[in-house]
Amino acid sequence: MLKGKTVLVTGSTSGIGLGIARAFAEYGTNIILNGFADAVETSKLREQIAADYGVEARYDGADMSRPDEIEAMVKRALAEFGAIDILVNNAGIQHVAPIEEFPAEKWNAILAINLSASFHTIRQALGAMKQRKWGRIINVASAHALVASPFKSAYVAAKHGVAGLTKTVALEVAEHGITVNAICPGYVLTPLVEKQIPDTAKARGMTEAQVIKDVLLAAQPTKQFVTVAQVAAMAVFLASAEAASITGTVLPIDGGWTAH
Ligand code: NAD
Repeated sequence: MLKGKTVLVTGSTSGIGLGIARAFAEYGTNIILNGFADAVETSKLREQIAADYGVEARYDGADMSRPDEIEAMVKRALAEFGAIDILVNNAGIQHVAPIEEFPAEKWNAILAINLSASFHTIRQALGAMKQRKWGRIINVASAHALVASPFKSAYVAAKHGVAGLTKTVALEVAEHGITVNAICPGYVLTPLVEKQIPDTAKARGMTEAQVIKDVLLAAQPTKQFVTVAQVAAMAVFLASAEAASITGTVLPIDGGWTAH
């Protein structure tokens, strides 16, 4: 059922997004990659996915902080594939600092990329999904859509916003064969997490090893990082026929973190 459909995964040159794109390609879904990377790297990613799975693999370098670029990306996708059958809003950034020291430009960038970008992609992709009477919107939120941690004001605010956006759009499109869900991973060891370890260490006056043990994995009762493959499998399931009744949900995949 996913074969021949098209998925756009924002922020898929790295980490969770790349894992999700590969997981869909395994099922024969055409892929539109997006995210920052140089031309050599993006051609390599595209060629690898096309060769490994025999699907169309495109790359679009739209900056998800820019509504004009997002609009142009969605238009290009619709012109080429007719619809974005599956839209995965995954691009995200992080900044860790106490709120009095939180730079306003970081706040604006996090809100733009982690929240507003999904508003822009969704509103432009929905028309074609409605015409086909089928669509899947999967927002990669975070456990931080459900609970907070100190020093992450913009990220937590944006991810809580994604939860609200998910529920609202799910209600608006429920009768059109379109589902809208948010996946809420706990800590996954990707470049996004690796980069915040030194800042968290600084903000909390800890060593980096202490941050991993006492901050990151302290929150997760399993004491294990969530894996990219686990998140990707959840995304593929949400796109399946069997998940047609799952909509408007904010689904934790967090090793028990939000059970606290
Ligand atoms: P990552 O840093 O490995 O990947 C982020 C991707 O977003 C990259 O492809 C990057 O190029 C892209 N990106 C960043 N800014 C962009 C912009 N302006 N325009 C287009 N693309 C842009 O991070 P990740 O850990 O894979 O995170 C992916 C998503 O998962 C994010 O939304 C993040 O908040 C969420 N998440 C991550 C974790 C975790 O522990 N890693 C946990 C919960 C949620």
